[in-house]
Amino acid sequence: MITEKESRYLLKIYESYLQGMSSVGPQYMAEEMYVKRPSAYEVLQKLAKKGLLAKRRGKYSLTEDGIRLAEKILRSHRIIETMLYRAGVDLEKACECATKIQDKVDDDIIDKLCAYLGYPKTCPHGRPIPEVKK
Ligand SMILES: [Zn+2]
Repeated sequence: MITEKESRYLLKIYESYLQGMSSVGPQYMAEEMYVKRPSAYEVLQKLAKKGLLAKRRGKYSLTEDGIRLAEKILRSHRIIETMLYRAGVDLEKACECATKIQDKVDDDIIDKLCAYLGYPKTCPHGRPIPEVKK
């Protein structure tokens, strides 16, 4: 499994990937995550060891497992966020809370929440909620 910090990095890398960046380096991640380069490097190395990133010439790109996990976490994030938002939590707080627990809620619970919410297509930010791939 991955830690909360790793899940935040993974989502950021996935976001960059969706925007067309096929790989990222520690400097880029340090800037994106507001940390020092060695901290970013350490997390990238950990994700690579877990098989979620592939390292090539000092740059890291998502593996298939990495993409699958990022989509899963993103889905979890957006469903939790939607639920909290609909319950009256303001968007920023809902997003912050979802970030803390996005990697900890079991898939079957997320599936049930998704059904309960009426299979929302987008999160309260208006971003798409990835479909389940089994
Ligand atoms: Zn959010």
